[in-house]
Amino acid sequence: MTATTRTDDRTYRSRWPAVDVPDVGVPEFLLDHPAARADAPAVIDGPSGRTLTYGDLRRDVRRCARGLARCGFGRGDVLAIVAPNMPEWLVGCYGAMSAGGTVSGINPLYTAEEIAAQLRDGDAGWVLTIPPFLPLVRAARALGDRPVEIVVLGDPDGETAWADVLAAGAEGAGMPVALIDPGRDLALLPYSSGTTGLAKGVMLTHRAIVTNIAQMQVALAQTADDRAMAVAPFFHAVGLNVVAGVTLRTGGTIVTLPRFDLEAYLGLIETHRLTISVVVPPIALAMARHPAVDRFDLSSLRLVGCGAAPLSADLQQECAARVGAPVGQGYGMTEAVAAITLVDTAAPILPGSCGVLLPGVEARIVDVMTGEDLPADGTGELWVRGPQLMTGYLGNPAATAATVDADGWLRTGDLARIDAAGNVFVEDRLKELIKVKGLQVAPAEVESVLRTHPAVADAAVIPIPDERAGERPKAVVVAAGGVSAAEILAHVAARVAPHKCPRELAFVDAIPTSPSGKILRRLLVAQERAGALTA
Ligand code: AMP
Repeated sequence: MTATTRTDDRTYRSRWPAVDVPDVGVPEFLLDHPAARADAPAVIDGPSGRTLTYGDLRRDVRRCARGLARCGFGRGDVLAIVAPNMPEWLVGCYGAMSAGGTVSGINPLYTAEEIAAQLRDGDAGWVLTIPPFLPLVRAARALGDRPVEIVVLGDPDGETAWADVLAAGAEGAGMPVALIDPGRDLALLPYSSGTTGLAKGVMLTHRAIVTNIAQMQVALAQTADDRAMAVAPFFHAVGLNVVAGVTLRTGGTIVTLPRFDLEAYLGLIETHRLTISVVVPPIALAMARHPAVDRFDLSSLRLVGCGAAPLSADLQQECAARVGAPVGQGYGMTEAVAAITLVDTAAPILPGSCGVLLPGVEARIVDVMTGEDLPADGTGELWVRGPQLMTGYLGNPAATAATVDADGWLRTGDLARIDAAGNVFVEDRLKELIKVKGLQVAPAEVESVLRTHPAVADAAVIPIPDERAGERPKAVVVAAGGVSAAEILAHVAARVAPHKCPRELAFVDAIPTSPSGKILRRLLVAQERAGALTA
């Protein structure tokens, strides 16, 4: 291992050489294990203990791919998945990719309107779901104007049954069923608001995903003996690419948990002697402080990874001491598949650091006022370049150009510093994005919902600190008539997923804007910190 190199042009480079990746699609990269591993457990459904071995997983992914193809799904088609973490999420995901299609995970706690918006924007003609979410998915379909085929894991109630799709794909051999062009074909279409505006479809090729998984392997050094907890949702990069991707590639075992429940989570670590758990900061907080932790044997854990939102050095150390395993951080973005930096598990952990640049990743720290690259240890906007970056935002070249420049540098919208040894510290967020329990909230989206209330003349949404969730959105509203805060908050709550709902609202006379009409949220945040924005 060599130290991170800093070149004269003030570009930071990874301490590791770039990874070579095979020219294959994601399913092949993850599931092409030697026949001897066919009986090894790949995915275990936490609540029931139902196990898919590597042999089962490969067979079901093939069946799913062929079955979907026989039902008319193929290259260029998008399958949305509206389901909690469960083994079939992965079967459907890698099956659709093998059939040449693209997968777009959706938070099952979204409202019908939010699901409809993602289906419409991504032009998704297929949805995989489970019976409890079927009415929601049907309602979302009814809001759109394109035909949507719904595949149901369980009683299909008149829609297409998952079992029939698998049965249709039962014969034949070989995978993949479609000829995939890994460098061009999109495997995933997750949604992210990036640095500004509404959520956008992030175009990720098979190659980008394969690369990021290979990069993460170098830092995490997982082995086939590792057993990892899949508590982070598969619709987010951490659950799907960090946990499932890296673990399946290395031949280890994933245990899925459909909904976070601390005791169920700790119980699964104890029962399955799990070695790795990748969490978001609120779970790290619970592991550090919740009394229930003492009742479980967590001695099997060799690494707790934490990412998707900031975790303080103090809490990181507190969690490590309580759990009895190192806690290492990683930093990433949906636009980079998943990870940009990760803890180097072969080196001592530096609390508060998000780790080091992954193989093949370059970084710059740019002064936000002058645009100059800063010397080591200076704090500025983090720009990154690497082989795992997105192709762009779907149908939005302007947003793509505003995020990734002609030389391939992606402006993260995060304020960071990199020390002389190459340790990356994320200090703050410049962009308007709010992160609630690691999940994105785009202020622009909540603001547009606020403005649909007839008594709201104008609105802005800003982050406020929250001990358990990290941050929460707060609404700042100019009222156009007699209306209570509770009334407006209820209006929003009926239209967006729970994590996007503001719980606090302040009335103001005017929303500050720039001469070009941009909301000056930073000004409102400063007023909030000064205690000037009360209900
Ligand atoms: P997402 O695309 O949902 O993964 O969100 C990416 C954003 O989450 C980043 O641009 C950061 O603002 C934030 N983020 C991710 N990981 C970390 C971390 N370890 N520390 C601080 N912020 C983080």
